[in-house]
Amino acid sequence: MALILDGNKARDEIAGELAKRIAGFESVPGLAILQIGDNPASGVYIKQKQLFGEKIGAEVNLYKFPEDVRQNEITETITKLNADQKTHGIILQLPIPENLEANELIEKISPQKDVDGLTTTNTEKVKAGDQSGFLPATTKAILTLLDYYQIPIDGKDVVVIGRSALVGRPTALALGNLGATVTVCHRGTTDLSAHTKTADLIVVATGQAKLLKAGHLNTEKKSTVIDVGITRTKDGLIGDTDFENIKDIVGAISPVPGGVGPLTVASLFTNLVKTYNNL
Ligand code: NAD
Repeated sequence: MALILDGNKARDEIAGELAKRIAGFESVPGLAILQIGDNPASGVYIKQKQLFGEKIGAEVNLYKFPEDVRQNEITETITKLNADQKTHGIILQLPIPENLEANELIEKISPQKDVDGLTTTNTEKVKAGDQSGFLPATTKAILTLLDYYQIPIDGKDVVVIGRSALVGRPTALALGNLGATVTVCHRGTTDLSAHTKTADLIVVATGQAKLLKAGHLNTEKKSTVIDVGITRTKDGLIGDTDFENIKDIVGAISPVPGGVGPLTVASLFTNLVKTYNNL
């Protein structure tokens, strides 16, 4: 049986450390979340952020807007929050309604308060290997989980499946910056197994439930698998791996739920504490 990479355990430890650090601050770090419309999944994610903030002593302020809000109104709020000394981090909860320009709004967030690591300034820093910016929370969560379980990255062969701007690309770049040789696979990859069978570490972030199966793996290799995918079903969340059938042939694997997910929220607040110290 593989080592199960327990994100809840790592998250609780990080929460404890962050709470201790915040207790020593002169003021409370503040996170502003902008929510537009009523996406049910977003509601769940926001609740998790509010609870985590409460647990560690950070202030989380939710700014809710109706579905038909004008782009201008959001821009004005972001501008105010950029200047507000009690707000150290600003996030635009995605997805937002299609009549709005998400990228344009994200670029309005001050890069110093961009705790989601989505502004061009921060993504360019990741590309350049400059550690002074913010990694997107999901990428940071993956690195944190690997670090917590002391899984080496430097010199390893890594396959990242999925190349989205939000998850796959920044994760591939960040792992490359840490010394891995990274191959990025995607929907157009003709022979996924040819890549995954030689990988020491596989990160799968596609949203295709149970995509990574036993047949994709080299049983001798004992690879580490990080499952980022989330598919909602009536029976709960399912990841991108056929967990039950591969858990005995890999070396280590993160479950869904309870792997990367809990650390995404923790990573966001690690970024918040970093901005608090920088501002
Ligand atoms: P996306 O739809 O933007 O990108 C999916 C990527 O997967 C694309 O690059 C696509 O080419 C690739 N892909 C799709 N089918 C494939 C296939 N059959 N073979 C190989 N590659 C394939 O999605 P995203 O925003 O990157 O999110 C990916 C998954 O991660 C989703 O399930 C999402 O819910 C989840 N997610 C989880 C967290 C977390 O905290 N755990 C955070 C963000 C996203």
